Amino acid sequence: MLNKDKSEILNGRKRIEDLENENSLRPQLLSEYIGQDKIKDNLSIFITASKQRGESLEHVLFYGPPGLGKTTLSYIVANEMNVTIRCTSGPLIERAGDLAAILTNVEPGSVLFIDEIHRLPRVVEEVLYSAMEDYKLDIIIGKGPSAKTIRINLPKFTLVGATTRAGLITSALRDRFGMTFRMDFYPPKDLAKIIKRSAKILNTEIAEDAVLEIARRSRGTPRVANRLLKRVRDFCQVQNEKVVSLELVNSSLASLDIDDKGLDNLDKHVMRVIIENYSGGPVGIESIAVAVGEEAGTIEDVCEPFLIQLGFLIRTPQGRKVTEAGYKHMNIDRKTGDQENLI
Ligand code: ADP
Repeated sequence: MLNKDKSEILNGRKRIEDLENENSLRPQLLSEYIGQDKIKDNLSIFITASKQRGESLEHVLFYGPPGLGKTTLSYIVANEMNVTIRCTSGPLIERAGDLAAILTNVEPGSVLFIDEIHRLPRVVEEVLYSAMEDYKLDIIIGKGPSAKTIRINLPKFTLVGATTRAGLITSALRDRFGMTFRMDFYPPKDLAKIIKRSAKILNTEIAEDAVLEIARRSRGTPRVANRLLKRVRDFCQVQNEKVVSLELVNSSLASLDIDDKGLDNLDKHVMRVIIENYSGGPVGIESIAVAVGEEAGTIEDVCEPFLIQLGFLIRTPQGRKVTEAGYKHMNIDRKTGDQENLI
């Protein structure tokens, strides 16, 4: 049976717990932001150039799996530009009027951050086009033959959008961003730096090899790294240890059902379904989602990119297939389907 609580620790998506304490761990400046060097270098140039010209920054789109630092970078953009930021999210803006209320209140030059921008309703998205392009808002007042369109001039602002997959947003919207950045998973050495920084902020003493072990098993995702650090810190405290050791990390992660590569129960369930129900694939995402009892979006955003990166899964036009390496990791014989060892 899938243990959802445990699985959610490795799910890079935001949870209530994160909203409460992520802010304290968020880097505030580009110089404090670890990794993603190419994005940092480019952003730094574009920010400096805009500041020198005294203009607002062009609209920016960040895309990549949850927990990689898109929100953090948006705050940093505002900080580095010395402007205020207002945050909202696609599903919260239900009607064109909601967007109008937000846009008519933005301060000149400020940043408007829209998380999950792919979930904006189409009618809202269409209003956003002219706001992004001409800083004008066309609003229809009234209904039927007496309806009137009024045009409102907006102050120049920078829209920062975040989405888990660029393919989820329309090309019309995508084209209106001056800069688009794809976030990549972090290599363990960058995650190790993030964990050390967070441990310092959390006043937690942690051994070097323990840092590296958490980094290795955090599926390339800073949010997961920070969560694992916090959970391991809990084990450390309750077991009356002063320092987080490698041993403690190993035993804590075993209790959380996180395997050697950072796979959790959901990932393993996905792999097993493809192997056992579909002879290793190819199989469509919807069928996998039904068999696993999870939303297709979660599997696509959270499990799939990581399993693909590890080389355990491939996407083909016919669907997802488990690779030789995937079978090996699951300890299942490809030909006979026999489980060689219980994982
Ligand atoms: P996203 O918006 O992509 O889902 P967030 O920006 O909310 O991700 O980041 C999740 C957490 O990971 C934040 O608490 C942040 O402190 C941390 N984090 C993300 N990227 C970095 C980074 N490059 N350096 C340090 N911490 C980071």
